[in-house]
Amino acid sequence: MGPSALEEKVVAAVPTQLHIGGRWVDAEGGATFDVLDPATGDVLCAVADATPSDGMKALDAAVAAQSSFAAVPPQRRADILTRAFELLHERIDDLALLMTLEMGKPLADSRGEIAYAAEFLRHFAGEATRISGGYQTAPAGGARFLIARQPVGPSLLITPWNFPMAMGTRKIGPAIAAGCTSVIKPAHQTPLSMLALVEILHEAGVPDGVVNIVPTTAPGPVMEPLIRSGKARKLSFTGSTQVGRILLEQCAEKVLRTSMELGGNAPLIVFEDADLDEAVAGAMAAKMRNMGEACTAANRIYVHESLIDEFGRRMAERMAGLVVGHGTEDGVDVGPLIDDAAQDKVSELVADAVSRGARVLTGGERPDGAGFFYPPTVLTGVGADARMAHGEIFGPVAPLTPFASEDEVVAAANATEYGLVSYVFTNDLRRALRVAETLESGMVGLNQGVVSNPAAPFGGVKESGLGREGGSVGIDEFLETKYVGIALAH
Ligand code: NAP
Repeated sequence: MGPSALEEKVVAAVPTQLHIGGRWVDAEGGATFDVLDPATGDVLCAVADATPSDGMKALDAAVAAQSSFAAVPPQRRADILTRAFELLHERIDDLALLMTLEMGKPLADSRGEIAYAAEFLRHFAGEATRISGGYQTAPAGGARFLIARQPVGPSLLITPWNFPMAMGTRKIGPAIAAGCTSVIKPAHQTPLSMLALVEILHEAGVPDGVVNIVPTTAPGPVMEPLIRSGKARKLSFTGSTQVGRILLEQCAEKVLRTSMELGGNAPLIVFEDADLDEAVAGAMAAKMRNMGEACTAANRIYVHESLIDEFGRRMAERMAGLVVGHGTEDGVDVGPLIDDAAQDKVSELVADAVSRGARVLTGGERPDGAGFFYPPTVLTGVGADARMAHGEIFGPVAPLTPFASEDEVVAAANATEYGLVSYVFTNDLRRALRVAETLESGMVGLNQGVVSNPAAPFGGVKESGLGREGGSVGIDEFLETKYVGIALAH
C-alpha cells in the first residue's frame, strides 16, 4: 500500500532546501539525497545535500548575525521561543506524522516527542530572562568584581536520528535564549523534522542568519572545516561516543567550548525488596521508550536471583503483547528500527548472547519482509561475556541477568566505560540513596524508568559525555562568564 494523501501532503509541506542567512537555498551544484520511510524502505522525498562550501556559507551567516542577535533583548528572545512552542503544539498532528514517516516510531510516541521538544523551548524562554551576574567586594577590600554572562558565540549543533526534533530543541532553545547564533546539522536519516522546526522558528520571529541548517550526507567533510575555522566558538553534539571522540579532537585545535551527549549502557537493577509490578513497568518504560533506540535505554537488566523467574515471566508476557507494525497504523506499539544496519546489529547481538548460553523468553527472530523490524525480545541468563553487555543494543531487546548481592550488582553496573543513566528499583530508603550515590552515571532513576525532563539537568559522566542539557544549567553551556575588575579609589 502506498502513502496516504495526508502523508503525501505532510511530506510535501516540508522545506527540503538548506536554510542559510534567512533564505531557503539549493545545495551548491543542486545535489540532493533521499529520505526513506524505515517501515517500507520507500523514498519519502529528496533533501538538499550540503557541500563544504554550503556549510561555510551557513557559518558565515551565523557569524554575521551574532552581534546583532546578542543585542536582542532577552524578553524578545523569550517571546520568539514561546511563539515557537505554541506553533509546535498547533501543528503537532502533522509534525508527529512527519516524524513517524522518517523515523518509524508510532504516532503516539512522535506526539510525545514533539510535546517534549516544545517543552525545551518553553523552559528556555524562561531562562532567557533570568540570565544574571554578580557584583562583589574583593576580599582585600577596595576593588569590586563585576561578573557578567555573555553569549558564547556562533555554535555548531549536531544531532542524531533517534529523537529527530527534541535533540534539536534541547540545543536550539538554550542557544537562542543565550543569544547565540547557530548552524544545525541533523542526522541524514531524519532531516525533515528539523527542517520543519527551522521553518517554525523563522515564522516565530528568529532573525535571518540566527538559525541555519545544512543537512548533508558528508558530515565529516562539511563539519570539520567549520570546527577548525576559528569562526565558531562552540560545538554541541548528541550522538555516539565514537563520533564524539573524533569531534573533541577537532575542537581542540581552536579550543571550542564543547557539550557532548554521547552513548549509554544503562544498568537497571531490581533488588529483592522492590515492588515487582512497579519494577516490571519501569523496565518496560526504560527499555521500550523509542523502541529501545535511546541513549537512556535499559541495556543491562540485573534482577535479584529470588525474583528473576517471575520478573522474566511478566516482562516476556508484556513484551509479547506489544503490537509491531508501521507507526502510522492504529494500535501499533513498536515501529521499525532505523535501517537495515540496525536490524543486522540487533540480530547479531541476540545470536551472540544465545551462543553464550542466554535463553530466549520471547522474540529473538528477525522477521522477513519489507521494513527494518525486530520483535520485542526478552533474554534471560545473559552473561557478562555477551557483546550486548558492553555496548548499546539500540533495539527492543531486554537482557536479564541474575545477581545475589548489592556489592556484586553495583560493581557489575559500574563495569562499563559509559555513565549516562542507571535505574534502581528498591523500597529500602538507605539502599536507594547508597546505591544512587555509588553508581557512576550522570542520572539515576529511582523506582522510575524515565528520567528525561526539560527542567532537569540531562547528561553523562565517563565516556557518556561532557556538560548538561536542560534544567537551569542548560543555558550555561551557551554562556561565557566575564569578570570586570573595578578599582574604586581615585
Ligand atoms: P552518530 O553516528 O554518532 O551520529 C550523530 C550525528 O553525528 C549525526 O548527525 C551524524 O551525521 C553526525 N556525524 C557522524 N559522523 C560525523 C563526523 N565525522 N563529523 C561530524 N558529524 C558526524 O550517532 P547516531 O547513530 O545518529 O545516534 C545514536 C547515538 O546517539 C547513540 O550512541 C546514542 O546513545 C546517542 N545519543 C545520545 C544522547 C544523549 O543525550 N546522551 C541522546 C540521543 C542519542 P549522519 O547522520 O549523516 O551520519
